[in-house]
Amino acid sequence: MTRVLSEVQAHHCQGELIERRDVSANLAIFRFRVAERPSFTAGQYATIGIAIDGDVVERPYSIVSSPHEPFLEFFIELVPGGDITPKLWELKLGSTLLVRRRIVGQFTLDTDVTHHLMLATVTGVAPFVSILRTQQIDRERGSISNHRFVVIHGASQSADFGTYCSELEELSHAGWLTYIPTVSRPWAEPSWKGETGRIEDILRKHADQLGFDHSNSVAYACGHPQMVAKVKEVLARARFHKEQIKEEKFFSLDAIDH
Ligand SMILES: Cc1cc2nc3c(=O)[nH]c(=O)nc-3n(C[C@H](O)[C@H](O)[C@H](O)COP(=O)(O)OP(=O)(O)OC[C@H]3O[C@@H](n4cnc5c(N)ncnc54)[C@H](O)[C@@H]3O)c2cc1C
Repeated sequence: MTRVLSEVQAHHCQGELIERRDVSANLAIFRFRVAERPSFTAGQYATIGIAIDGDVVERPYSIVSSPHEPFLEFFIELVPGGDITPKLWELKLGSTLLVRRRIVGQFTLDTDVTHHLMLATVTGVAPFVSILRTQQIDRERGSISNHRFVVIHGASQSADFGTYCSELEELSHAGWLTYIPTVSRPWAEPSWKGETGRIEDILRKHADQLGFDHSNSVAYACGHPQMVAKVKEVLARARFHKEQIKEEKFFSLDAIDH
């Protein structure tokens, strides 16, 4: 993940920070204008590089924006002591970094089924927003789609949903999306009127009520590795096959434990 600066420049272009919105002290939304507009499929991730002492340190970030939009948007959590995120927090409007030209990833929409059960912890909502913005834009442009979506978005507190809570609630009015934000520490937020509990604890109830099951759905789990592991167990008990569960883990618990 660390490369000598001269080696990587051929594979990268410059991204200029054009907007930054702080969601909390450790969560922010960044928008970059990229010199050469990259081509990608909603759900994929970009690799961002920052030059540190003559080397380039790179990390993958799921893209929030739709391929139809003229910028790359990311929803990023600050990891104290991390290599890249503290540097991202120092960026000012107009600052630049490196973005790998090739955008990759398999965490894209499975169009063999019509029902999509999307499960995200905090920043893990990123690829789902990209997919849903793309659906919305395609529908506005006249595409006929029979795809149906449920997004269960978990966080310890509602502030961590950022602007994506209101964006996805707004999108859900059209009827093809159900958005369920859920907070796991409701006692700290008595005014919260929405769903409470961890994703794995409420997943089955909502999936069953909405008619999303192993006969018609693919499930997608993105973000915290513990959530990904737990929802896989719940989905296996609900008779989802391995091939019906797609996952994108943002980090590894092993790396923290050892
Ligand atoms: C496919 C993919 C897509 C990703 N998309 C996003 C995204 O959209 N938004 C986002 O914020 N991150 C995303 N990540 C994580 C991101 O790539 C970095 O790992 C993260 O930002 C930390 O980078 P760092 O250099 O600051 O910390 P590092 O120096 O890489 O990590 C320091 C330590 O913190 C651990 N760590 C990394 N991330 C976390 C975390 N979130 N919570 C707790 N510990 C952590 C690492 O395992 C390591 O032990 C994604 C990862 C992958 C593999």
